[in-house]
This record gives sequence, C-alpha cells and structure tokens, in this order.
Amino acid sequence: MKNKVVVIGTGFVGMSYAYALVNQGTVEELVLIDIDKNKAEGEAMDLNHGLAFAPRKMSIRSGDYQECRDAGLIVITAGVNQKEGETRIDLLNRNASIMKSVVSQIMSSGFDGIILVATNPVDILTYVVWKASKLPSSRVIGSGTSLDTARLRYEISRQISIDVRNVHAYILGEHGDSEFVCWSNAFVGVKPIKDVIESMDEISFEDLDKIYLNVKHAAYEIIKRKKASYYGVGMALVRITKAIFNNENRIIPISVYNGGVYDCDSDIYIGLPAVLNQDGVHHVVKLKLDQDETLKLKASSKIIKDILDQMEF
Ligand code: NAD
Repeated sequence: MKNKVVVIGTGFVGMSYAYALVNQGTVEELVLIDIDKNKAEGEAMDLNHGLAFAPRKMSIRSGDYQECRDAGLIVITAGVNQKEGETRIDLLNRNASIMKSVVSQIMSSGFDGIILVATNPVDILTYVVWKASKLPSSRVIGSGTSLDTARLRYEISRQISIDVRNVHAYILGEHGDSEFVCWSNAFVGVKPIKDVIESMDEISFEDLDKIYLNVKHAAYEIIKRKKASYYGVGMALVRITKAIFNNENRIIPISVYNGGVYDCDSDIYIGLPAVLNQDGVHHVVKLKLDQDETLKLKASSKIIKDILDQMEF
C-alpha cells in the first residue's frame, strides 16, 4: 500500500493529527483537503516550513479528491458544529450528508484503501461512511473509544504513579455517554486491577468510579475551558495510522463493525478492541465480559442502533 494519507477536514482535529504525523515521521506523503481551499493551502504551507526539523523527508500539500486515488489511508475529520436551537439529530443529519458527499468524491477517484473516521458522532458516521463507500467493513473504521481509552489509562497511571504505557484497560461501547470501562479485563503490567487495588494504598475500589467519571466527562471539561478537544484525538489517530502502515497487528479499541462478534446489536459500528494491520481490521478481539459489562454493551449498542434506525440509507 502507498505510504500516503489524505486528511479531509483541516480544522482543529485534522491539523492536530497532521502535526503529530509530521512530528512522528509516520508517512511519506500527506495531502490536506478542506471545503475551505485556502485554509487547507495555508495549513500545508505552515507544515512544510517545519520539515527542516522533522524526523523524515515528507511531501505535504493541499489538493483535491483526485489525490485519494492512490492513498493508503483517508482520515475524515470534516464536520460542522451544532447551531443554536439545533437538535443533536439535526446536527447528525447535517454531518451525515457531509459524510455522504465526501465519500462519493473519495470513491469517484478510484480509491481502494482504508478510511478512518473521527467526525462525531463517530460510531454513527462510521456506519454512514461504510454504507456509502461500499468498501468491506474491515476497511472502514472510526476512532471509537481510542481517545477515551487513552484518557482512562492516563487517569489510572496518575492515580498509582505507574507509567501510562504499563496500564492496559479499555473503554468500550459508544464514543459518548453510554461508554463504559471493561474493568474485568484491566491490568497494570500483568497484574489484574483488582490485585493492584488490594496491594496499593494509592487506589481503592471507590476511585474506579471517579476515574470512569473523569474519563466520561473529559471532553465536556475540555470544551468548557477551550471550546474543543483535539491534541489527544490527533495522537490517537496517529497511533491507528502506524498500526496500519507498519502492518503491526496491534490491538486498539476503535469503532468497528460488530457483525455478531459481541452479544449486542449486530449491524452497527461500536467501540471494541480490534487487531489492526495493513488490511484494516484483521479481527475484533472477543473479551470475556462480566454480566454488568455485557448489559452495558447491550445498552450502548441499542442507543446507536436506535439512532441508525431513524436514518435513511
Ligand atoms: P473544526 O470546525 O475545527 O474543523 C472542521 C473542518 O471541516 C473545517 O475546517 C471545515 O471547513 C471542514 N469541513 C466542513 N464541511 C466540509 C466538507 N463538506 N468537506 C470538507 N471539509 C469540510 O472542527 P474540529 O474541532 O476539527 O472537529 C472535527 C470533528 O471531530 C467534530 O465532529 C468533532 O466532534 C470531532 N472530534 C472527534 C473526536 C473523537 O474522539 N472522535 C474528538 C474530538 C473531536
């Protein structure tokens, strides 16, 4: 696959991702597309001026949808924000029509790679993109709960003063209010979280609820202070990009097509751990959930399904 990424939507999220890609030297070619052509052009100019300090040689430019033809990965971060008086479903319908128009232009170019969606509500819009693209579900994914999981790992790490990279735990379900922590499969190093709590004074079972709430409310708290959140998701998108281009077979919780792997609504995209490589999703990792987690996943999937049922495809 060609080591080329096309970013569609050069707003805060798109450009945080692009900036992190350049700093980490993740790809050879980066093309920026936005409905505001001047913005995309200016962003490409600005990034190019950092190449003297980047870890690798890269080609960065703004362009049009023809650039999608030979791209390995397309990352969609284009979207609009809620207008005053607009309901969430109105906003959803507007973003869904943006997705459809973007996807029709991507597919007209002859594109045959992987699409990664970050625009919210990400689980719903990833499904919209999948349907509109007619690509196999293994090649259409969403950022899902990758950011939420990074937030969770950070919160646990902060509480127990152990490196965040030694914390292994997932947020599953909708990237939204019904997401939940899969505590039954949470580890620090190779130690189950239950044993960590029993052996450490720094953390108690009550802290787990606080940690979950901090993660769940993180986006609201950031938006309250600075209107939008973007660095964290930008880096989560780079992590997913690396798993794909480096053919890593890496497990990342992303928005994937359930397709009956988990005992919840089948025909939806939802945040689940998946093995990612150069072909996209190799498989969804089936975790043994406890009874409470199983119910939470079902409730979360129902929320997504109910919304999808109100939409036209
Ligand atoms: P933004 O307003 O800064 O950027 C959106 C960009 O999309 C703008 O540059 C706009 O011109 C462009 N755009 C709009 N319509 C377009 C079209 N038809 N074609 C091409 N470009 C178009 O917004 P942002 O802060 O970058 O957020 C983008 C999306 O990412 C939002 O939906 C936000 O909710 C979402 N987000 C997702 C996560 C996650 O974890 N998945 C985290 C944070 C934000």
